[in-house]
Formats: sequence, C-alpha cells, structure tokens
Amino acid sequence: MGGCLTAMATIAAIRGHHVGFAPATPLGNAAGFIRRRDFLLLEIEAADGTIGWGEVGASPWAAAALIRHGLAKQVIGQPAAAYGRIFETLLGLRGYDQRGVSMMAISAIDMALHDIAARQQGISVAALRGGGLRDRIPAYASGPFMLEGPDPYADFARDIDAYLQRGFRAIKPRAGAGPARDGAMAEALRRQVGPDVALMVDFNRGVTARAGLASAQFMAPAGLLWIEEPTVPEDLPGYRMIAQTSPIGIAGGEALGSLAAFREFLATEAVSIVQPDLSVCGGYSGYARVAALCSAWDLPVMPHVFGTLVNFHASLQAAALTPSRRGGAAMSYPFVECDVSGNPLLNLLGDVPLDADGMVALPAGPGAGFDLRAEHLAPWTVERWSVAA
Ligand SMILES: [Mg+2]
Repeated sequence: MGGCLTAMATIAAIRGHHVGFAPATPLGNAAGFIRRRDFLLLEIEAADGTIGWGEVGASPWAAAALIRHGLAKQVIGQPAAAYGRIFETLLGLRGYDQRGVSMMAISAIDMALHDIAARQQGISVAALRGGGLRDRIPAYASGPFMLEGPDPYADFARDIDAYLQRGFRAIKPRAGAGPARDGAMAEALRRQVGPDVALMVDFNRGVTARAGLASAQFMAPAGLLWIEEPTVPEDLPGYRMIAQTSPIGIAGGEALGSLAAFREFLATEAVSIVQPDLSVCGGYSGYARVAALCSAWDLPVMPHVFGTLVNFHASLQAAALTPSRRGGAAMSYPFVECDVSGNPLLNLLGDVPLDADGMVALPAGPGAGFDLRAEHLAPWTVERWSVAA
C-alpha cells in the first residue's frame, strides 16, 4: 500500500479562488437577509496534472489565510491518496481552534485530495471510499426564502409551484416569522403540495428556543418531516427543551465543525436528523466519522449543502456512501439539499437534473463527477492566490 501511495504523482500546487456574488433578491431567513455570498474554492493540482476541488463556504477569508500561510506546506509533496494520513496531520495542527476555521480549511483540503486520488485511479470518490450504496439520491428544494417587507411568505405559493414543476418531491422553506404566521404558512403549503410531498422548515438558528417550540406547535398539523436549527446550536438546553415537547423532529448540525461538537449535540438526545456539512466538518473524512457516531445512536445522517457545485457534488458522493434509514417520508434518507435560489456557482455547468421521482443520479466519476476549470469561475472571482512546491 505504501508503495502504491508513493507511486502516485504528489501534490504540486494549491490555488485558491475567492468567488462570490450578490443574489438577485436578498435571501431572507429567520436570522436575517443574505445579500452577498462568498466562497473559497480550492484547486489542488498533482504533478501529473490531475486537479481536485474543495470548498469553504463559511469564513472563506480566514480559511484561505490558514491554508495559504500554514497548511499548504503539509500537503504539497504528499500523494493525494494519503488523504487519511494528511487529515490526521492537519487535525493535529488545529491548536486552540478545534472546531472553527481550522476544520473548514481541513475540509476543503480533504475534499480536493479525495477528488484527485479518485481521478488518478479513474473511479468515483464513492468507489474510492469503498463503494456507493445507491446510484441516485432524493433531492429536496432548499427554499423558498423570506421576502423583505410586510409579508415574508408572499411569494411562497409561486415558488413552491416552480419547485413542483421541476420535479421536487421534498421541499424545505424558511420559517420563523412568528408562530401563528408560521402555522398558517405551513398549512397553506401542505394544501398546495398535497399529502405525498415531504415538507420541512428551516429556522437558520434565527429564533429563541421558546419561539421555535411555539412555531413547531403551530406547524405540527401540516405534517412536517423536521424543523431545522430552531435555535443556535450552542443552546443545547434549548434543543432539549424543544425536543421534550415538539411533535416534530429536530434537524441540525450544519454549523458543527468537530467530532466533539457532534458528540455534545447528540448527547442532548434532542436531535432526530443530523446534517454535517462537508465544507465544515472535515470533508469526506470528517463526514465519515460523524456518520459513524450517528450510526451508534441510530440517527439518520445526511449532508447539508448550500454552496457551489463543488460542495454539492461532494455531498452527492457522501450521500451515496451513507446508510439508508426510513424517516417519516416515502423516500428513505439520506436526502441531498438542493439550492434553488438561482445560485450561479451551483449551476456553473448546468442545472441540477432531477429524474421523474425527484432524485439526482450519482455521477459515475471520475472523482466527484464534474469537470470544473478555473476559467469557469472568472466572472465571479474576487481574488486568486497560489502556493507551489
Ligand atoms: Mg439549514
């Protein structure tokens, strides 16, 4: 195995692309309005010319500085297939930053190294990690978002109609305008989509635990699969309080960076669905550990993703590797989240295609299954940098 690893071309260069855009309409959720979206895309190149991509969605500036001035030297000269050893080395360099920017920087590196290692072997990342368990994944529309002005839900019916037309069989609008309004919104949506489409809501950590619980009680008759991040993940007693009373399961985990953070979160016994984000929790390597932890609690796990095509494709590979579990919907978990806000960095190489059952086919590969070149990013690039051997 060691000989095999060293025979592969080693990492020669790491290039950072800071990309971003302003959504045509600000994306409103219970926490505020997203008026600008920024990402660090990491393009790692091996000496044989193989390229792999990684992503940081939260704190892209800090992660770029850390990779550029610190972590890059640990990666350059190493074989990509040694992603496990590199992951361990980088974990050991986190110092006091055990669950923040360091984990996000490590996430992007791990994602890109898997992409390269799989491409060098001509196989998918799922195949590299032991083989996918399925070849298509149920997708859910992550939207609609709340509007500015007196009625944040004014366009929901129109937007939901567009998602149904596109073939989605699961939809997750934003909520948190107030318990009674949330209840009315959820009831209207259920009437619109009928009994068979899965509905969930996302509070984006935007309200207090009490307010989240009150909204959950008003929305319960609509038959929601989950309420997501009703409050900040630091408020573990708040999660416990909601779970003791709410008839709807709680989902969360997208903001958690370390395995220890997930351990604390699961120990509340308040969470029903766990959603690690590959760009936060340590890439494929971190996700696999979180998934194992969730398995010990018999909790369904599925990737959270709200970023560019890089994290989306990585999430598809991760979802293919995730054991399935039936929740309250006709389709088994894991689902994969699909940004439907018109994100040009998700749709760079075309819209996410859905089949007649509202599922996304797993790309066969190689790597994470997409062919992105730096030129594609030009219209959205704010800054580029590179570190070479
Ligand atoms: Mg969310």
